[in-house]
Amino acid sequence: MTSTLESPSTAPATRARNVRVAIIGSGFAGLGMAIALRRRGEHDFVVLERADDVGGTWRDNTYPGAACDVQSNLYSFSFAPNPDWPRSYSEQPEIQAYLQATADKFGVREHCVFGADVTSARWHDTARRWEIRTTSGTFLAQVLISAAGALADPTYPDIPGLDSFAGTTMHSARWDDSHDLAGEKVAVIGTGASAIQVVPAIQPIVDSVTVYQRTPAWVVPRTDHPVKPLMRLLYRIVPGLQKAVRSFLYLFREFLVLGMAKRRRFLKPVQKLAQAHLHKQVRDPKLRAALTPDYTIGCKRILISNDYFPAVAAPNAELVTAGIAEVRQHSIVDRDGVERPTDTIVLATGFHVTDLPIAEKIRGRDGRTLADVWSDGMLSNRSSTVAGFPNLFLLVGPNVGVGHTSMVYMIESQVAYVDDALQTMDAEGLAVLETTEQAQRAYRDLIAAKSKGTVWLTGGCASWYLDKHGHNTTLWPDFTFRFRKLTRTLDRENYIGTPADAPATEVAA
Ligand SMILES: Cc1cc2nc3c(=O)[nH]c(=O)nc-3n(C[C@H](O)[C@H](O)[C@H](O)COP(=O)(O)OP(=O)(O)OC[C@H]3O[C@@H](n4cnc5c(N)ncnc54)[C@H](O)[C@@H]3O)c2cc1C
Repeated sequence: MTSTLESPSTAPATRARNVRVAIIGSGFAGLGMAIALRRRGEHDFVVLERADDVGGTWRDNTYPGAACDVQSNLYSFSFAPNPDWPRSYSEQPEIQAYLQATADKFGVREHCVFGADVTSARWHDTARRWEIRTTSGTFLAQVLISAAGALADPTYPDIPGLDSFAGTTMHSARWDDSHDLAGEKVAVIGTGASAIQVVPAIQPIVDSVTVYQRTPAWVVPRTDHPVKPLMRLLYRIVPGLQKAVRSFLYLFREFLVLGMAKRRRFLKPVQKLAQAHLHKQVRDPKLRAALTPDYTIGCKRILISNDYFPAVAAPNAELVTAGIAEVRQHSIVDRDGVERPTDTIVLATGFHVTDLPIAEKIRGRDGRTLADVWSDGMLSNRSSTVAGFPNLFLLVGPNVGVGHTSMVYMIESQVAYVDDALQTMDAEGLAVLETTEQAQRAYRDLIAAKSKGTVWLTGGCASWYLDKHGHNTTLWPDFTFRFRKLTRTLDRENYIGTPADAPATEVAA
């Protein structure tokens, strides 16, 4: 159905498609939300996706070696177990295939509008609608759900000369599959979760790989193995078995929270394990020292790999810790003045996490963007709603991130919360639902209290978990079952609801 908003000045002039709910993004979060709507019979929604397929992270990260670092039995939807995971930690193609198959199984693909890059979303008080402009047309929605991802927009480092590099430059999240690295001199900038997967995958085929490290990471062994056909058969005929494995993995991983957020001493054995892993895999004391972090394990994401250290220690690999002074047309010069010829630069330099690009596109009641409102740090109620942004819900919003377990667990918690909010609107006949500033302040205080003394704040590192003020606005700083409890149902007392028959007023921006 198409319609035109009729209110003056701030109303959109274009004809637009009307829907009840518009979801931005088709990664785990957008798909999870869409499936929840479908499962309870809601059909009046669209999933706006800028790319040409579902999958989000797992569509975009096609670099060699890309794989999950939480076991697939846990890193998957609880309602869509996959008995056919080929490995305990599956690789990108299998995870992407799983997301595609799940979207098809639950009939979500027909709701997807691909090639719809959301360029702006603006709330109109008179019409009580979000006007969402995309590269595939304009949509009017009563409810807007942003599932645009926290690790979806790559960051590019500001290195002198990088733009004038004559070779190939690619971000790990925008890999050029057609480019053959065989026999090339490759520079990898960054040593985070993506870099430690890329380096061992390309080291055997390249002429040389130079790893430019700013901060070393703690790395523990990866207990990866193929899933035997018998196990897969058992998972298929006894689904409860796979559920039990999932529960075990979940509980095991929650123990890490004890050390990270409650009692630091519980991290000691984990740090010892990482030290022993490094000691065993790297014999050269100088290289070992360069690879040893000076902060407490857990402060930055704990990485898992069995082949990163051997790859860095290989004869055709070099670890550079001096920092990069400049990039020239065919080389990189480090701060010690050493120039290394380079054919391809791989930027494993992460994502916009505390400065989400989608926040610059969403305008609330008073015309300000989420980015404006968040200029002093991301604020929300229960990581999901923001005062001044009626009928807007955020999936994987502020303080939902986890480093120790599956993001899908957090996503499913949020989906339940948002779904309950939508059902509450239906049950109470509400046109508008908006959280209060008071609720936001209370949630901010709760997060601050929970974050106090945690390894993320006091572990002695700088990480993308913290914003420019050093505040934790990205991580959930407690057991994840507490987040689930907090988001099980809508905290109705923290919301102002406007009945559908109440007179509307447009507040001009
Ligand atoms: C390499 C890598 C490995 C990871 N491994 C793990 C792991 O092992 N375990 C774990 O728990 N987490 C892992 N993560 C985190 C991972 O991002 C989350 O687990 C999860 O996939 C996030 O899902 P999402 O739907 O929130 O975001 P995404 O998967 O990023 O999806 C967001 C979607 O929104 C779309 N989008 C964004 N902006 C717009 C716009 N303006 N208009 C239209 N569409 C838009 C994007 O194209 C994308 O499809 C990993 C992340 C990366 C990058």
